[in-house]
Amino acid sequence: MSEDPKRTLTDGSPVPSDGSHRALKPNGQQRGYVVLSAEERAKGFVRPLRFAYVHVGRPLPPNLRDLTEAEAKQYAAYGYVKYEAYGPDRSPTVGRFWTQPELDRSTGGCLATTTMSLPLAETYARDPKFYGGTFCCACREHLPLEEFVWEGTQQRLGN
Ligand SMILES: [Zn+2]
Repeated sequence: MSEDPKRTLTDGSPVPSDGSHRALKPNGQQRGYVVLSAEERAKGFVRPLRFAYVHVGRPLPPNLRDLTEAEAKQYAAYGYVKYEAYGPDRSPTVGRFWTQPELDRSTGGCLATTTMSLPLAETYARDPKFYGGTFCCACREHLPLEEFVWEGTQQRLGN
């Protein structure tokens, strides 16, 4: 048996070895989701127990800054709102300007809140790195964890 006793589906049943639980339902969700077993979850949480997350989209580039007064005046016609310095690893003197619509598109979040059941919430609280992606109920697809924050916080899932 290669079955991992530490993992079950949310209803406590064994994880199907054929992966059939990953088949998608019409609403985009999987037929079943893998969680840590009730016994594993009972060992204690390393994060608060949270039930809802928000699809905020990909993180913005790290070296983003506001425009200087001179830049704002010079480029007013273009609608630029931020400047991204590429940094020493790429080129310290080179970067690019961003408009607000470009920033919004680049992050790609729909801002919808998705809630989940207790076994899933407890699995995140027990092992924040258990999952690599999660479901957005508005986009109806599974997306990387870094596109989501816990509701009411700035904290990305998976941390
Ligand atoms: Zn979404």
